[in-house]
Amino acid sequence: MTGFVSNSIVEQIRSTSDIVEVIEEHVPLKKSGKNFVGLCPFHSEKTPSFSVSSEKQIYHCFGCGEGGNVFSFLMKFSNVSFPEAVTKIGKRYGITVPTEVHGSRGKSLYSSQADKKEKYFSVNRLAAQYFQQNLFKGCGKPAQDYLHKRNISSDSVKKFQVGYSSKSWDFLLTHFRKKNVAFKDLEKIGLVISKGSGTGYYDRFRDRIIFPIIGLDSKIRGFGGRDISHNEKTPKYINSPESVIYNKSEILFGFNIAKESIRKKGFVVIVEGYFDLISLYQHGFENVLATCGTALTTRHAGLIKRYTNNVVLLFDSDEAGYKAAARGFEILLEYGLNVKAVDLPKNMDPDTFINRFGLAQLSEKIDKSELFIEYLANKIVGKVDLNSLEEKLRGLSTIIPYLAKIKNSIELSEYIRKISELFQVSQQSLQDQVKKKLETKKTTIDSNVEVKTKKKVSDWSERNLVRLTILHPENIEKVKRKIDSDHFSDGILKEAIEFIFDMNIPTEELSPQKIVELIPIEEVRKNITELLMETIEFDNPDKVLEDCIQSILKKAKQKDVENLIKQRIEAVNSKKVVEFQKLDKDLKDLQGV
Ligand SMILES: [Zn+2]
Repeated sequence: MTGFVSNSIVEQIRSTSDIVEVIEEHVPLKKSGKNFVGLCPFHSEKTPSFSVSSEKQIYHCFGCGEGGNVFSFLMKFSNVSFPEAVTKIGKRYGITVPTEVHGSRGKSLYSSQADKKEKYFSVNRLAAQYFQQNLFKGCGKPAQDYLHKRNISSDSVKKFQVGYSSKSWDFLLTHFRKKNVAFKDLEKIGLVISKGSGTGYYDRFRDRIIFPIIGLDSKIRGFGGRDISHNEKTPKYINSPESVIYNKSEILFGFNIAKESIRKKGFVVIVEGYFDLISLYQHGFENVLATCGTALTTRHAGLIKRYTNNVVLLFDSDEAGYKAAARGFEILLEYGLNVKAVDLPKNMDPDTFINRFGLAQLSEKIDKSELFIEYLANKIVGKVDLNSLEEKLRGLSTIIPYLAKIKNSIELSEYIRKISELFQVSQQSLQDQVKKKLETKKTTIDSNVEVKTKKKVSDWSERNLVRLTILHPENIEKVKRKIDSDHFSDGILKEAIEFIFDMNIPTEELSPQKIVELIPIEEVRKNITELLMETIEFDNPDKVLEDCIQSILKKAKQKDVENLIKQRIEAVNSKKVVEFQKLDKDLKDLQGV
């Protein structure tokens, strides 16, 4: 379903629905203090770290960082779009949702958010076109040669919209200046980077082959770039950073092209690189997706599950590829997908393999691919001296956590049989080990899932300023008058406050859960739900808010002073008298001397 749901209906459903009721239909919850807790549906855990607040109508998982309101829960849990989630919850509460055609309402909030996204999409489209044209200009010759060397056909170049970004620092900037696109917008989607000095921008992608990263809806979300400068110091590959329109955890390269074929063939092959995917495609494998430097996430798994239950991992046959496959397997297993893996000859990637041995040989490899657990067991057993009990046990301890995740008991006993043979241990003893694993309270599997590393301690006053502004939206105007987002030192909180400042919604229409819902960047949203779940309560929140403002201003001023002092020293060292005098005056003004 596409289209937009009218604001008033969303509003009505938001205020009628109860997040605890909706989540409880899918996740058993227990009351704990002011909140409800349960086992997180988005990562594997045995002690509950998934909290739901009935008062704030939001949820947050302290294990994996997931968070949001009732709509975002259903979107993530059932893999549905925003209008679909709204409709489902509406139905539960007896509210029918008529959808409207885009643009039929004036400047509603959702359409203005959507407009913004559309604008970014069109900028990306222009950029992609420009990169493509550039590939065929004189300066694109080395890029063409490189593609030729890698056996990439001109049909593939067209199909995947491959392009080239020049060596220049302002190739795109100049282009977009002519088109009157604001540089700030280019920065927001990661095409350009702001210079450290704060004056001006430069291109992110320079002297690279460019692959547009395209969503299932065929819109360009971001770009990947392969360096061809042969400069040792530059990374081989870079990708666009996450933005309002690009969320790495939900985009896989090639999905827009592969989806039909995945459905038809009944399985998907996952590779690691752009060139792997395109090479396979050229040889007739169309049901292929590439991770391109991103670890597989539960969101990816959910998207794949919409098209098939069968996944074949075709990763590089080196240590890094094997580790990435093992991590990916775990996520896919959680989602109940059947995962197989292909074992390529040592130190080979799919691109090299298919170019050397051709389609038939790779097809055979894929047909004969092993279930992932066997692949894993074979890899491990190859490194273990089976005469040493200690080594045997160490090898098995790597496999047991995976076995413990298999829910189907027939499947499990089959694996136990095979693996016990492989490792030459009795079936019974292996079974006991798996059982023990299942019983142990402390789960070691969790560490492999995408658990966020412990949050760095961000500034207390910045955290509480954001928290109090969201909990009491009537403060927004006051805070906006006194503080500039540039005063923030924490990047995520800065994004959050910028968003809050730019919302332009009457405060009486705002609630914490609505703000959470509107925050477009997932990373920011997760941080906010975590902040909001904190149970600290202040006797005098107005006073705390004022203290936070003062503390942030003081720190920002201190930073300015330090910067000026540094610059003044530099001016003295390089004997720039006029500049020194100016800096000295600025400094005195700032210090109020
Ligand atoms: Zn979680």
